[in-house]
Amino acid sequence: MRIQILSILKNTEIEIITSVKHVLAGEKLNIAIVPHENPDGDAIGSAIGLAEILINFGHIVTVVTANDYPDFLKWFSSEVEIVIYDSKKKRAKDILKNSDVLVCVDFNEVSRAGRLEKKLLDYSKPTILIDHHPYPTYFCDYTISEPQYSSTAELIFDIVHKIGLEKYITHNAAEALYTGILTDTGSFSHNTSRPNTFKVVSELVKFGIDTGKIQSGVYHNFSANRMKLLGYCLNEKMIVYPEYRAAVITISKKELEDFEFKSGDTEGFVNYPLSINNIVFSVLFIEREGLVKASFRSKGNFPTNQFAKGHFNGGGHLNASGGESKLSLEETVKKFTQLLPEFKHQLLKTII
Ligand code: 5GP
Ligand code: MN
Repeated sequence: MRIQILSILKNTEIEIITSVKHVLAGEKLNIAIVPHENPDGDAIGSAIGLAEILINFGHIVTVVTANDYPDFLKWFSSEVEIVIYDSKKKRAKDILKNSDVLVCVDFNEVSRAGRLEKKLLDYSKPTILIDHHPYPTYFCDYTISEPQYSSTAELIFDIVHKIGLEKYITHNAAEALYTGILTDTGSFSHNTSRPNTFKVVSELVKFGIDTGKIQSGVYHNFSANRMKLLGYCLNEKMIVYPEYRAAVITISKKELEDFEFKSGDTEGFVNYPLSINNIVFSVLFIEREGLVKASFRSKGNFPTNQFAKGHFNGGGHLNASGGESKLSLEETVKKFTQLLPEFKHQLLKTII
């Protein structure tokens, strides 16, 4: 087991693991865990899962998020304290100030910490990053970056074994880590070609977690308005470009208001066009305060992260990435459609 785990962490030096072990599996500390801004299932699942294990070991642990996260991530059995900086600035600042260690999970650039970016940069005590995004940047003292992993949650499971804390995994930790893997793989539909993912899932299920409850908590927990907004987007806002094997959905601020938008309501919308026969590239543009947020998804080997990095100041994984635009919503879509001819060849040769 141990030898297998050593060999699957391809990018992390043994010395880093030794140092992380020294910090997290040594004396009892105050630890803050920070996931990326607009936390998704993997960010929250990883943060709660790791917090549960570290608390069970004897540390005092709090999760601090930059902003709120969707209701469909608020059903966890765990009672780990999650402090939202946006709504409890003083408490969040105090936790960071009083902590001995900061663990960042599920992001590869310090800017992805959102409103906590400066706090992270100014942090004077040891910092650890555990992440699976490609192209890591080194803003922490110890970086564990393993892009071959489906999710940070899967990686945390292996790291916990490597640093000898596996006996502290609880039912609630298993539930949270399973949720991270479930959501980052789109219910085991992508990034699941490595047997290790299913091995970890199998180990997590042994903790007696209710996978049906988790599935319902995440995917059957939407408001009626969210379903109506989805219907509206697919019916009236989706434009398909068959000649480029691409599709785009745009949502304006006014439309979000009309459907009483709540955080997380548009989660997953960008995936729908990919279920159209022969579409390999799907884009969602959402008008926000002062900018347009972009989500990119693809099938096959079309590199959405390069597209996001090159043209929308973003990045992410090959098949799932994001970015932003300072142009108006209309201008953003125009920019996108004007880019399509440049990528026509690559899109047409994408094998699915
Ligand atoms: P989503 O489309 O769900 O917001 O984001 C999908 C993935 O794209 C995220 O997991 C993250 O890796 C990446 N991503 C999203 N937005 C940004 C961004 O603005 N900058 C960078 N570098 N990556 C992003
Ligand atoms: Mn992730």
